[in-house]
Amino acid sequence: MYNRHYFHTFAQVSPILFTFFRNFAPKYINIIMVSVSNLLANTDKTLFSFEVLPPLRGKSIDQIYQTIDRLMPFNPAFIEVTTHRSDFTYREVEPGRYQRVEERLRPGTVAVAYAIKQKYNLPVVPHIICSGYSRQETEYELIDLAFLDLLDLLVLRGDKSKQDSRFIPKDGGYRYASELCGQVNEFNEGKLLYGDRHDMLPQRCFSYGVAGYPEKHDEAMSLKADIEALKQKVDMGAGYIVTQMVFDNEKFFRFIDRCRAAGINVPIIPGLKPLSTLNHCTMLPRTFHIDFPDQLVKQLQNCTSNDDVRKVGIEWASRQCEELISAGVPSLHFYTMNAAPSIEAIMKNVRG
Ligand code: FAD
Repeated sequence: MYNRHYFHTFAQVSPILFTFFRNFAPKYINIIMVSVSNLLANTDKTLFSFEVLPPLRGKSIDQIYQTIDRLMPFNPAFIEVTTHRSDFTYREVEPGRYQRVEERLRPGTVAVAYAIKQKYNLPVVPHIICSGYSRQETEYELIDLAFLDLLDLLVLRGDKSKQDSRFIPKDGGYRYASELCGQVNEFNEGKLLYGDRHDMLPQRCFSYGVAGYPEKHDEAMSLKADIEALKQKVDMGAGYIVTQMVFDNEKFFRFIDRCRAAGINVPIIPGLKPLSTLNHCTMLPRTFHIDFPDQLVKQLQNCTSNDDVRKVGIEWASRQCEELISAGVPSLHFYTMNAAPSIEAIMKNVRG
């Protein structure tokens, strides 16, 4: 059994040995992994991390493994796994007759996170969301995660239902991510709902990050109000912030300045997305409420194929990463979304 403090010091003093040990230590050695919050707070070099989506319902996990296999040579510090709420759709049950059904297109976050952790022996960060979950369902998920020793989380409100024009919590669910942070904190103190207690976390407890928006969350009334809401999540106990995808480093740096001025002192990681299809040029700004910088827009306007966009995307993200590394960001965090080959090219450009 390795003490967390020594394990962490080991990581700092001898990164190469640490990587070797972490990747190849036999599974029967019971390692207490340092939390992702701790790792980010104490790193003196820029780490590499990325997010994967659980497979679409009915698809195998192999595609995720292929993505991870491709990116393992760049020594990821952690991998995040997204969570997707269920939504209502209409299914044709017999010719001409449709039934409204509730279905989750990408189930399996907890299982996927555990499978990755077992296979790659890496810290894995499942996302937990308010959207579509009651407090009881959240509690059951926390219990599953605790049993599996998946104790690093990203705590989020989650997307609204496709049918709704604004976010509506499930009955007995939460409106804001900060409230979900509160339930995780209570769980850490051994408290269950309705005054019951548990003794499931003898050695370490959940630690978590939260989301931040350099260009403002689309529903926030102002960037200032949004940063105040972000501070609330940090005050609840979030150990780090992962941002919405950002294409303009200046905006990211200004966001850090504003966060620091507001008293937010935890590590802030830029979310990065390599552009790889013509569709991204319109879909990403529309879906994620972000702007591309003028220089990138000019380059994209000259693209006539996915290949053109992919080349521009790799070049742009590589320059972005070089500047972010020089600025000393704690990690380069990539949204993979089928972009593993581009991420591989970017990491080769920046790490050689
Ligand atoms: P919150 O922090 O709750 O904020 C939501 C809005 O409410 C903001 O406008 C905020 O300013 C406002 N607000 C917060 N607290 C208060 C308050 N007390 N009073 C008034 N206003 C308040 N979605 C998924 O469904 N699954 C995922 O796996 C997922 N992963 C993500 C990962 C990252 C890194 C990011 C950046 C986003 C991710 N999302 C995911 C999307 C995210 O769930 C949405 O952007 C969601 O709309 C907001 O989530 P949040 O946690 O930032 O919400």
